[in-house]
Amino acid sequence: MDRDVDRALADGVLARRLRPLAKAITLIESQRADHRARARQLLEALLPHTGGAMRIGISGVPGVGKSTFIEAFGLYLIERGLRVAVLAVDPSSSLTGGSILGDKTRMELLSRHPSAFIRPTPSAGSLGGVAEKTREVMLACEAAGFDVIVVETVGVGQSETAVAGMTDIFCLLQLPNAGDDLQAIKKGVVELADLIAINKADINPAAALAARAQMKTALHMLRPASPNWTVPVLAISALQKDGVAEFWETVCQYREAMTASGEFAARRRHQATAWMWELIDAGLRQRFRQHPRVMADLPGLLAAVEAGRATPSAAALALLAYLKG
Ligand code: GDP
Repeated sequence: MDRDVDRALADGVLARRLRPLAKAITLIESQRADHRARARQLLEALLPHTGGAMRIGISGVPGVGKSTFIEAFGLYLIERGLRVAVLAVDPSSSLTGGSILGDKTRMELLSRHPSAFIRPTPSAGSLGGVAEKTREVMLACEAAGFDVIVVETVGVGQSETAVAGMTDIFCLLQLPNAGDDLQAIKKGVVELADLIAINKADINPAAALAARAQMKTALHMLRPASPNWTVPVLAISALQKDGVAEFWETVCQYREAMTASGEFAARRRHQATAWMWELIDAGLRQRFRQHPRVMADLPGLLAAVEAGRATPSAAALALLAYLKG
């Protein structure tokens, strides 16, 4: 029964229908063990049809204009005949119940458009869980023929690193305020950026140009991630749809440069194996913590290490030895 249902689901996704896609995503996001098994099979069936989209990460502090920009950008791409999916990684939302894409007033025009698909953060708890689901949802969207996948994130925890680790290009939106660049540099998020856009340039164009120059200077001091790409800093206005075309042109230039150098495919290969190792690490950790003898001995050994009666290495070795059997 399930097998036929899932076959129909896979066919529906591949036929680019949104209802089966939404159902597939619900299955992917489910925590139930039987759903997980079905989702895995579904993803196996979809996998040969994935990889065709341009995966774009977009980050920036709340209020910088992410949803205003993504709506303008998405509609711009749709005008050009492209289909756009917007996903989100916001681990804070699964704790607070809110979501960066949950608010219905955000991206109103885009969300109503038949060529767009918008999905809020999966409520999977930890950042690792949220990121894993989002990666899988991204594959499902690619199988459904979306040309561009935007993954939005707010600057909480390590979510930027997670999003940079699942996208082809990571873009940072910045405010033209003095000090905004310093905040981003301090948090290490500028180092992840392949493209930076100073938004709200309409409010004070001179301030935006000054912020742009300052950011360019700051970028000079960082080691470039690729010898074939100098991180561009654009000044844009999402509200006035100014710079949206330039943003897309820059993304296309990036793709061309990275494809020519082989780095585009290398980044995806690296992301795929890093994801696999992440799952192996998480699986091992879970097996370790659930092992009956580890559960029995762990509290005593922790106390012994705390009290200085056992060395951390001896305690760790004693516990890890239980995994051998
Ligand atoms: P998010 O929290 O990053 O998604 O930011 P929003 O897209 O919700 O934008 C926050 C506020 O900034 C809203 O009131 C927007 O109308 C406004 N905003 C966004 N982009 C611009 C812009 O380019 N210029 C101006 N003046 N306001 C903007």
